[in-house]
Amino acid sequence: MHRILLTVCSVLFFNLIQAQDDSIFIRKLADEILTNSKAYSNLHTLTKSVGPRLSGSPQTYKAEEWGRQALTEAGADKVYLQQCQIPHWVRGGKDEGKLIVGGKETPLNVIALGNSISTGPKGITAPAILINSWEELEQRKNEIKGKIVFYNYKFNPRFIHVFKAYADANSFRTRGASRAAQYGAVATVVRSMSESTNNFPHTGGMIYNDSFPKIPTLAVGLLDADKIASAIQENKTVSLYVKTNAHALPDTIGYNVIGEWKGSEFPDEYITVGGHLDSWDPAEGAHDDGAGCVHAIEVLRSLKAVGYHPKHTIRFVLFADEENKGGGSAKYISEAKNEKHLFALESDAGGFTPRGFSLGATPDRIEKARQWIPLLQPYGVYEFTADGGGADVDSLYIKLNVPVGELVPDSQRYFDFHHAANDIFENVNKRELELGALNMAAFIYLVDKYGL
Ligand SMILES: [Zn+2]
Repeated sequence: MHRILLTVCSVLFFNLIQAQDDSIFIRKLADEILTNSKAYSNLHTLTKSVGPRLSGSPQTYKAEEWGRQALTEAGADKVYLQQCQIPHWVRGGKDEGKLIVGGKETPLNVIALGNSISTGPKGITAPAILINSWEELEQRKNEIKGKIVFYNYKFNPRFIHVFKAYADANSFRTRGASRAAQYGAVATVVRSMSESTNNFPHTGGMIYNDSFPKIPTLAVGLLDADKIASAIQENKTVSLYVKTNAHALPDTIGYNVIGEWKGSEFPDEYITVGGHLDSWDPAEGAHDDGAGCVHAIEVLRSLKAVGYHPKHTIRFVLFADEENKGGGSAKYISEAKNEKHLFALESDAGGFTPRGFSLGATPDRIEKARQWIPLLQPYGVYEFTADGGGADVDSLYIKLNVPVGELVPDSQRYFDFHHAANDIFENVNKRELELGALNMAAFIYLVDKYGL
């Protein structure tokens, strides 16, 4: 009896000492990041000297060069490029929209969705039909022919985590064009995926269903969306005019930019930390996903700066083409099939105050991660949810059963900026950005030390 008690006590004592060691180490890491971080200045260079970096644009290659340099400066043992196929869609100039009520024209703040086809140089004018839900589209399918469908589905404000509202509304952006084209629509305009109070239109990827004709599709700012909806609701004869020169060019070549830090005990076992290098074209891609790139680079810099030596090889990956087709992620996973991966973490939800991590892993692994919460809580992370990793790492879990995760910052302001002209450096807070990097670095340290 005594012996069992003694064993239990010594295990608890050992755990306590270990937790103390970890807490001291993470405090040191925090001090390093909060005083010497390069995350904010790296983000400044990426956003201001490279700027928007849509896949296939000249800035794609400038961004790759920026990433190569930043990873080298942060202390990677080696930096290399992993070639992949990326799409090359171009906007082809400024998109235009007008609301036409009884001959009176009002300009609308619109932006073509990524992958949309062109309207032709003259644009398209047609009667508008207001559709608030998928059920309504089906009920009114006989009224759609020859019209511009205006989807006005709103973010559900009752979701606390705003990404849930985005997930709920997003199919109107991604699938709306083909679903309307199926019933003869000539174009679609979609309420921007946001609940902000400004009028910036938010672009983002859309996908055509090859079974139906391709029609142009654009997003409209929220104030203008309300304007179109009230004009139609007031029973006025409402037409819309839209014009875009958007078109796809042949696919091209891009690169994942990868920095490696060799592990001392298990050099052939990998931990991945990443963000995506590409961004939509209206702005600088500061939150989406410049923040994720500089988070990953800062994890490397800070762990080195405090004298850490990883047991496993850690890879810092700046993924190509997350926004259009996921070409970078697909390539990384096809190579990972032949390697041993321990864990992959990404940051692609903005540079805001960290709240938690979402994981794609078996319940026992999620439980193991939850035991580290007391170590991270002083720095803002209070929960590990089972909501999966992000777009670039999820397939590692789905296809290869590798546990994955994503940093979950506060989501309230993310969709004020997401894919819109105001996603710029000035809208990222230095401290909030650094706290994200700090929690990621601490999490990676714990996974490297104890496994997951
Ligand atoms: Zn993103």
